[in-house]
Amino acid sequence: MNLVHLLLRQARQCPDRLAILYGTEPWATHAQWAQRSAGLAQRMRAAGLVPGDRVMLFMRNQPRYLEILWAAWWAGLVVVPVNAKLHPREAEWIVANAGARWAFVTHDVASEPLAGLQQQIDVESDACDDLLTPVGDAWAVPVVEREAQDLAWLFYTSGTTGRPKGVMLTHRNLMTMGLTYFIDVDPVSSEDAIVYAAPMSHGAGLYAIPHLMAGARHVVPASGGVEPAELFALGEAIGPLSTFAAPTIVKRLVDHAEQHGIQAEASARAFKTIVYGGAPMYAADIARALRVMGPRFVQIYGQGETPMVGTALSRRQLADTAHPRHTERMASVGVAQTPVQVRVADADGRSLPTGAVGEVLIKGDSVMAGYWNNPEASSAAVRDGWLFTGDVGCLDADGFLTLKDRSKDLIISGGSNIYPREVEEVLLTAPGVAEVAVVGLPDAEWGEAVVAFVVLQPGSTATRDTLDRHCLASMARFKRPKRYEIVTELPKNNYGKVLKTELRQRLADPAHAASGQRSAM
Ligand code: AMP
Repeated sequence: MNLVHLLLRQARQCPDRLAILYGTEPWATHAQWAQRSAGLAQRMRAAGLVPGDRVMLFMRNQPRYLEILWAAWWAGLVVVPVNAKLHPREAEWIVANAGARWAFVTHDVASEPLAGLQQQIDVESDACDDLLTPVGDAWAVPVVEREAQDLAWLFYTSGTTGRPKGVMLTHRNLMTMGLTYFIDVDPVSSEDAIVYAAPMSHGAGLYAIPHLMAGARHVVPASGGVEPAELFALGEAIGPLSTFAAPTIVKRLVDHAEQHGIQAEASARAFKTIVYGGAPMYAADIARALRVMGPRFVQIYGQGETPMVGTALSRRQLADTAHPRHTERMASVGVAQTPVQVRVADADGRSLPTGAVGEVLIKGDSVMAGYWNNPEASSAAVRDGWLFTGDVGCLDADGFLTLKDRSKDLIISGGSNIYPREVEEVLLTAPGVAEVAVVGLPDAEWGEAVVAFVVLQPGSTATRDTLDRHCLASMARFKRPKRYEIVTELPKNNYGKVLKTELRQRLADPAHAASGQRSAM
């Protein structure tokens, strides 16, 4: 089993069909893609890289990403995708930890040589063009066969706590992820197109696999990122796009549609499907997204350790407004995806009854082979095939999973458990509130006190008083924030996840604590 066969299959069946676009410009047909990948694969082998060697991609979104990925698999290599927003020193740490030999970079990301590499190739250089030049008969370049359990993708966790860990994903893991897309997320045809707005080093890039399986087109926006106006225009120009978007990106698309009076029919021309996940999507936000952009959303919940595969909340389930539990379902992450089992367990891994809150465990062919060179962390994370996700949630009788929070984000105040997400959901329905993050602050009297960081909408007249009255009207008194911090933005990591650790640190900082007290109610 080798993911490279997905490319060979399309290159044989429909060699001349356009496969990759850069903006609206054609970049490669399936045959050209295969020929370039074959050229690079051959040269990497000739230069001494051997199957199993690690090759890093430290680059912004760029069409070469896809050519290099499949070249690496052609040569039996393991790809190490690194987020382009990391600092070069952080990337060097990954080079050393992964033992990467080569790296493909873009100049904006790594203008200086990274320590520890044998080769660093600027993907926009002539040298890279030479490496990707076809070598005559692409079919004559031998494919290095891989077993299902061989590594394909060594993905470093975002490391919001401590050093990142290398998640070992195999060809089987990624093949499973690709096939599952059609069953649980969205059917894909060769007429479809996926656009890479979020970083290709993460889940968004992995969705190249199901789209290549279906012979669809791959579109890299010229900006290489998330520019809502560009994405709407691209969709209008080349046909409805599918994309993966973290909730913050969804919010930007919806804001754009609202501000520019883009009706749902126009959104339908630009976007076929928007898959969202990676961080909590609040019920109020998805309800608004559906209202503004129409029924083109599907939610997935997964993590690097079981990429894009955990649960899904389908387009149909989101649209089923007549269902008696529709409101709860909108706030859930849906039901187990087809190839996995999902259960909620206590700390010893014993299953808990329906409705009880515990750690979410996932088992199936998408679950990683372990952490790179880290047997202790691997055996703590995967026990008897069950991945301990570190997420806390509960299952209802129909199998819908509702995430509460990551265990470390849980707040215990006066002996009661408070799930920040619940408080956030309520605050987001208060008039004038744009974004919220709730954290616990150590408190001598209560153990922990609830603190809400709130970003207001422009022109909002909300005050700490109105927010507090809103909370009192709809939640138990003990859960309501003891303190509100009105801020202009929330700190987020490169993938758009709110950095609660940083918010907690901010509160612990004595200088901040003093100003916080003044602004406290
Ligand atoms: P990562 O490994 O960086 O993709 O982060 C995975 C984590 O993001 C999960 O363990 C969850 O805590 C969170 N996450 C992923 N998908 C969702 C979702 N749909 N809703 C809420 N949180 C999510």
